[in-house]
Amino acid sequence: MSAFDRPVDTDSSGPGFSGHGDGSVAEYPRPPRREFKARGSFVTRCEACQLPVMNCLCPYQVKAESHAQVWLLTHPLEHFKPTNTGRLIRDVLTTTQVFTWYRMAPDACLLALLEDPRYAPFLIFPDDQADYADRVVGLEAVEEAKSQARIPVFIILDGTWRQARRMFRRSVYLDKLPILPLHTERETRYRLRKPASKAHLCTAEVAIELLRQGGDIAAADRLDDYFDVFNDSYAASRLHHKIDPPTAAMRRLSAQRDVALTEE
Ligand SMILES: [Zn+2]
Repeated sequence: MSAFDRPVDTDSSGPGFSGHGDGSVAEYPRPPRREFKARGSFVTRCEACQLPVMNCLCPYQVKAESHAQVWLLTHPLEHFKPTNTGRLIRDVLTTTQVFTWYRMAPDACLLALLEDPRYAPFLIFPDDQADYADRVVGLEAVEEAKSQARIPVFIILDGTWRQARRMFRRSVYLDKLPILPLHTERETRYRLRKPASKAHLCTAEVAIELLRQGGDIAAADRLDDYFDVFNDSYAASRLHHKIDPPTAAMRRLSAQRDVALTEE
């Protein structure tokens, strides 16, 4: 067992997840900041990216612009897991918004944004149940939003699959949103938690494929490279190994960063 982290996070439940109750604020008090330090307290972490300094992600953080935006509705237990990939989206796409999911106390800012006509929000969720089939839309709805000069927004439920289903079923304020399922042949490359199936993509991978299918190819490619660097760096850190020489994704991001710096 490494001092850095558990070897593999399972996809079933987070630390302290009791599996009962209704998910109200009282049951999920906001955890203290950086509570995970307890697990990795023997490792010096970068203050900015939280990875061990040896494999710091920061040199590879290159911003990208996209037509579509990603808003994350993050389960309270997911926020503070260092293996969470939702934060990678925000690192690359500065328009990304992150909200904490509480069933009984929806975020007021999110509620206001859902009513804002500048945005066309889509709730990303599988289309495998009959009872909400009338809300399911396809990518043409994203194109239509763009043609109306509205900003497509992909709202991703950021948690384990079980948490995401719970968030979907228990959030009345999401009930009127169109549902956009992600159809992709991509198999997950995420190495830090064990997926129940290769078809179960992690949060960053879902965003990457949505951006790609929605026409934001350059942003998707850059986020994909950043995801690969995170994935590789985190996995190597569990073995106390420094990645050297740089991977192909690292080299591409370094080159893009150099270009961005000279343009400033
Ligand atoms: Zn860093």
